[in-house]
Amino acid sequence: MNLSSPLSEVPRVGPVYQKRLKGMGILTARDLLFHFPKTYRDLSVITPVSKITEGKEFCLSGTIANVQEKRTFIKQVSVVEGIFSDATGSARVVWLNQPYLAQTFGAGEKILLCGKVLRDKTGIFVSNPAHEKEGPSPIHIGRIAPVYAETKGVSSKWLRFIIHSILNAIGNALEDALPQSVQKECNLLPFAAALRQVHFPDSQKQADLARERFSFEELFYISLFILTERKKLAEIKAPSIPLSVDMMKRFIAKLPFTLTDGQKKAAWLILKDMEKPRPMNRILQGDVGSGKTVVAAMAALACVKAGFQAAFLAPTEILARQHFKTIGSSLAPFKATIGLLTGSSDLFISPKLPNDSIEISRAKLLQKAKEGAIDILIGTHALIQDKVRFSNLALVVVDEQHRFGVRQRAHLQTTPRQSSGQANYPSTKLGASKLPLDKARGKQTILTPHFLSMTATPIPRTLAMTLYGDLDPTVIDELPIGRKPIETKVIAPKDRGAAYVFMKKEVEKGRQVFVICPRIEPSTNNTQPVTEIKTVKEEYEKLAKEVFPELRVAMLHGKMPAREKEEVMKKFKRGKTDILVSTSVVEVGVDIPNASVMMIEGADRFGLAQLHQFRGRVGRSDHQSYCFLFTESRSAQTQARLRALVESNSGFLLAEKDLQLRGPGDFAGTKQWGIPDFAMANLTNLKLVAKAREAAKSVLDSDISLARHPLLKEITQHYRERLHME
Ligand code: ADP
Ligand code: MG
Repeated sequence: MNLSSPLSEVPRVGPVYQKRLKGMGILTARDLLFHFPKTYRDLSVITPVSKITEGKEFCLSGTIANVQEKRTFIKQVSVVEGIFSDATGSARVVWLNQPYLAQTFGAGEKILLCGKVLRDKTGIFVSNPAHEKEGPSPIHIGRIAPVYAETKGVSSKWLRFIIHSILNAIGNALEDALPQSVQKECNLLPFAAALRQVHFPDSQKQADLARERFSFEELFYISLFILTERKKLAEIKAPSIPLSVDMMKRFIAKLPFTLTDGQKKAAWLILKDMEKPRPMNRILQGDVGSGKTVVAAMAALACVKAGFQAAFLAPTEILARQHFKTIGSSLAPFKATIGLLTGSSDLFISPKLPNDSIEISRAKLLQKAKEGAIDILIGTHALIQDKVRFSNLALVVVDEQHRFGVRQRAHLQTTPRQSSGQANYPSTKLGASKLPLDKARGKQTILTPHFLSMTATPIPRTLAMTLYGDLDPTVIDELPIGRKPIETKVIAPKDRGAAYVFMKKEVEKGRQVFVICPRIEPSTNNTQPVTEIKTVKEEYEKLAKEVFPELRVAMLHGKMPAREKEEVMKKFKRGKTDILVSTSVVEVGVDIPNASVMMIEGADRFGLAQLHQFRGRVGRSDHQSYCFLFTESRSAQTQARLRALVESNSGFLLAEKDLQLRGPGDFAGTKQWGIPDFAMANLTNLKLVAKAREAAKSVLDSDISLARHPLLKEITQHYRERLHME
């Protein structure tokens, strides 16, 4: 048996338990060892029998005699009684319903008991105690005992037994993947010792140290992987995109607004980065409404003018269409050809018809992309899922990157461009990891596109150090001038009517209103699950028929056919609808400058960062805008969270707060790392994160190369597979 042995090779784990464990996600010996206790019970104090008192639980060490099963008046109950003694005295022990115990104990055998002391008419007795044979290393009694998360059919007692025997069998043969130097430097327990101490600690302190070691290890491996990726990218070639300041000036001059300094700075950094012959790997962070799209459009323009293609990935169809239109109209004067590829229909804008898109078949669109007849291809997930190939892709933009499960860079493909005098692009995946630099092939250079991801969810510092440490951050830290801060209010149920009156007044002024309904998770008990659609539908009907019968109300949810969604959005955008009742599909990126009220039902069901995103849908022009948060929840935590939103307009502060309050589990994109729960909590521990990152840096900088650390190499490979879905 070794760590990767399947459960079937673990002694004493039969088919029944294999099945139960599988249900808990445990498939190997390793999984069992990494099933850490939820907590511990300190059962290390042994009390002399003479000192036991009624009403408390005690651990005892001694022998048991006169064990026999007795009859009771109530026939079904079996009672086993015995006399337990140590050097200080004896006590009666009573077990109910465990008749086999009458045969369990040998005469004079030393045992440990742990149970509560009760009293009946004949005096005090130890009631239904747990028992264990005394030996040098007890696992239940006479020690700090692990308590595992309660699962049906898999008791803590059973897990202790199995885990203990695995540790005994292979505990000494476990290889430590952490380099000695790091272990020493950071004062960490060795791997095998930490595994032992996390399950069977000598003290609470040792248990804590063990956990710290594993948390550190996880953060260290992630950092090592991220830094290795960074290093690799620095060695890979990318197309160098010349920066034409003149052309950028012309582009800016045609915009209906002036760029903010933040936008100019960000665009400059990005354009300068793309001039270099190594792949840019940048994340553009800017609060909702800060105008990231136009910055990305400038990067795309530079690529197109240099004779390359750009790909734009958006999380929703609505957003992809919006980008298609805005980018299409802003780049049309520059003779760019733009395609839209979504799940439902494909469109195409050619410079000849700048204001009109034409429908095009998927096959044709793909053909054009492959031939290089499309300069910019904008799309949803379909862009990665279908076998889209490019002729000479130089830039991949991922909008709202936090919405994507995976770092999608790896999944766009490029094919050789036969008749071009330019660099030859072999048909290969674009992931840097997939691109061997084949120098022997002489002139043929493999070029990796530049990568720009954008997000309105600011990345808290700890996550920036670990999970996003391979990306160079660029921040747009200001909003276009003229935007008024949004007034945010938590509305008590009794004030609902007043809020409706207010909304109506806004509509009468010519403004528009969003109403967001939460997704209601299917409940775990047997009641019919309330679906997201149902709540939206109900709300829609209520508002359309009862509250605002004289206004134009529309509904939008993710399950609607794409065409219908598109139609609803179009109408809303053109001001033909007053109130849009929607699920979180409008959360990201949708731009309706005329909307002035964002009303959120069940606000407690959303994370702060997400609420902030919703709020960002309004306040996109010079109209004063409002965000109303409705909640039925009276919990202090909810109130505190919503207050944070009322008090702060800074996405960054809110993201940090969200991380503290709800943990990193809420940051989409963290899940894919497969970080175990115990380490997840530590993603917010700045000190530990910094320590792990430093250690990873020093390992990479020193001459201990990963090649000489096969285990480390394997682990980084493991992350690569997980993240790139290879
Ligand atoms: P986000 O950063 O949230 O993606 P968008 O790129 O969608 O923001 O821009 C939001 C809105 O602001 C759009 O209507 C866009 O045209 C507009 N916009 C962008 N930059 C400016 C600016 N400098 N001044 C005024 N409006 C701008
Ligand atoms: Mg956006």
